[in-house]
Amino acid sequence: MNLGSIAADLRTVHRTEGPLELGLRKKRLVALRSAIDRNGSAIADALAADLGKSAFEAYVSEIGFIREEISYTLEHLEDWASAKRVPTPMTLFPGKSTVHPEPYGVALIISPWNYPFQLCLSPLVGAIAAGNRVVVKPSEFVPTTSGVIAAVLAEVFAETEVRVVLGGVAETQALLAQAFDYIFFTGSTAVGKIVMRAAAEHLTPLTLELGGKSPCLIDSSANLALAARRCAWGKFLNSGQTCVAPDYVLVPRDLQHRFIDELRSVVQDFYGGDPKVSPDYGRLISEAHFDRLLKLVDADKTAIGGEHLRSERYFAPTVLRDVRWSDPVMEEEIFGPVLPVLPYDDFSEALDQIAARPKPLALYLFTDHQTAKEEVVRRVSFGGGCINDTVLHLANPNLPFGGVGPSGMGSYHGRRTFETFSHFKSVFEQTTAVDVPLRYPPYKGKLGWMKLFLR
Ligand code: NAD
Repeated sequence: MNLGSIAADLRTVHRTEGPLELGLRKKRLVALRSAIDRNGSAIADALAADLGKSAFEAYVSEIGFIREEISYTLEHLEDWASAKRVPTPMTLFPGKSTVHPEPYGVALIISPWNYPFQLCLSPLVGAIAAGNRVVVKPSEFVPTTSGVIAAVLAEVFAETEVRVVLGGVAETQALLAQAFDYIFFTGSTAVGKIVMRAAAEHLTPLTLELGGKSPCLIDSSANLALAARRCAWGKFLNSGQTCVAPDYVLVPRDLQHRFIDELRSVVQDFYGGDPKVSPDYGRLISEAHFDRLLKLVDADKTAIGGEHLRSERYFAPTVLRDVRWSDPVMEEEIFGPVLPVLPYDDFSEALDQIAARPKPLALYLFTDHQTAKEEVVRRVSFGGGCINDTVLHLANPNLPFGGVGPSGMGSYHGRRTFETFSHFKSVFEQTTAVDVPLRYPPYKGKLGWMKLFLR
C-alpha cells in the first residue's frame, strides 16, 4: 500500500470485506495483549532509551495501562457492540426503534512522544474494538519506541487491518491530506488546529486530545505534606512531560514557605540528594525542549533544584517561589519538571484567576472543605481532574478523559473509546400490518387529534 492512497486503499477493503467482525476484533485484542507480554522488555527498553523512563513508570503508565485497557474492553465489548432497543413514543405506535453501533471505517491515530506507547495504543484498542481499520502515526521524537510499536502491531494485525506509518511532519501532512472516516489526534494545541483544518476539508469527525496549563489549587484546610507529595509525584513523573501534570500551584500566601519545605523533603525522598543519578528520574525529550525550559526558569525565584545538564538532557526537579501571573513561566504550558508556586490572598480571587484563563485539561484541588470542592467544580470549566490527588482520574476507565475548548474536544478511555470510534446508527422499523392515516394529507379535521398525542 502506498502512503498517498493509504486511506482510500483501506476504505476499499472496508467496503468490500465489511467492518472487522466482532469475533475477529476480540481475537486481535487478545493477540495484542499477548504480543505486549512477549515484547514487554523490548517496550520498556525502548521507553528507557527514548525518555529515560524507569521500568516501574514504563509498566504502570504505559504497558500495564494498555493491558488493563484491553482486558476491560474485552470484558465489556459484547455488550457495547450490541444493537440496543430504545423506547418508541406513542405517536409512532406500533413501530420499534434500535440503535446500531457501527465503525466509522478507516481511522487515523496521530500520537505524541511523552507516553508514546500508551497514547498510541489506548485509542487503537477502542478503534479496533469498534471494528475500524486503522492507520497509526506514532511520534518521530521517540524512534526506538515507535519502531517497537510498528513491530508489535505487525505481529498482531494484517496489513488490511492496521498500518503503522513512521515519520514526522511531512508524513503526517501526507496522511491528513487524505479523507479518513475518523481522526484521533493527541498533541499540542497548535498542531491540533492544523489537524482540525485538514479534517474540515473532508468533514471528517475528530477527537483532539490537547494540552495547556493545568492548575493545582491548595486551600488553607489542606493536608500540606500530603498535597506536596501528591503534587510532586504528578509533576515530576516522566520529568514533568505529562499532559495532565499540575502545571503550577496556587497556595495561600502564609503557607507558601511551609509548602515549599514539604516539597523539598519529598523530592529528597523520591530521588535522593542528586536526582541525576536516580534510576527513577527521567530525561527531557530533546535539547530544543531543554533550551525552551531553561528560558522559563528565573534563577532569582528558584527555591528547589534548577540544576541542569544539556548533554544529558537532564533537568532537576525545580520549584519556583513567589511566581506572578505575569511571569514568563505562566505564558505557556511548561511540560517539564518546573513547578511555579503562586501565593494567593483570597481563595475566591484565585479561583477567578483560573476561570479567566483558557479552560485547562486538568484541575487539581487540595482541600478538606466540602464547600470548596463544590465551588471549584461548579465555577471552573476543565477537562477532568482530582480532589486531593493528581493525575489519577485518567486511570479510571469509567471516567471519560479529555479536554474542553483549547485543551481538546471529545473524550476516551473505557467505554468512551469504543463510542468515540463508533457511529450510532438509528433505525426505526414500522409495521406493515396497519397504516394509521392521521399523518397523511388532507389534514382537515386532524390537527385536534394530533394535539392529543403531542404534549
Ligand atoms: P505535537 O503536537 O508537536 O505532535 C503530535 C503529533 O503531531 C506527532 O505525531 C507529530 O508528528 C505531529 N505533528 C507535529 N507537527 C505537525 C504539523 N505541523 N503538521 C502535522 N502533524 C504534525 O505534540 P508533542 O510535542 O508530541 O506532544 C506534546 C503536547 O501534547 C503537549 O502540548 C501535551 O500537553 C499534549 N498532550 C496531550 C495529551 C492529552 O491526552 N490531552 C497527552 C499527551 C500530550
